[in-house]
Amino acid sequence: MSEDCIFCKIVRGEIPARKVFENDEMLAFHDIHPLRPVHLLLIPKKHIASLAGVGPEDAPLLGNMMAAANRLAVEAGSPEGFRLIVNVGSIGGQEVPHLHFHIVGGPEMVGPMLRRAENS
Ligand code: 5GP
Ligand code: ZN
Repeated sequence: MSEDCIFCKIVRGEIPARKVFENDEMLAFHDIHPLRPVHLLLIPKKHIASLAGVGPEDAPLLGNMMAAANRLAVEAGSPEGFRLIVNVGSIGGQEVPHLHFHIVGGPEMVGPMLRRAENS
């Protein structure tokens, strides 16, 4: 647990979130600023700053999170597929320093994974 971490505060119930699933090791809730009709965040309850901070001991937890993602997407209304996004560090555009999987989908296709930069 990290005292000031916003997602740890959601885990502890100190700030509200629209939770959709929780067990002893993970929690899923709606992103506060959804980019698509389905936009969930799936986080480990234990504070891990990013994917850059995981070790071999976290492999079972990460596997369980991956295994939960499809069921959560289907239940949230994205039965035909979804995109799983993990932003890592400043280059990856990570804003909240607590590991999270974005589960993004909905009735329409999400679109290309990346857009080619204009001048590259
Ligand atoms: P990142 O850019 O770190 O990968 O994504 C962080 C995500 O967390 C953003 O999509 C943002 O909308 C979401 N977020 C930030 N603060 C909160 C919050 O207090 N509650 C919820 N539900 N989502 C949040
Ligand atoms: Zn945290």
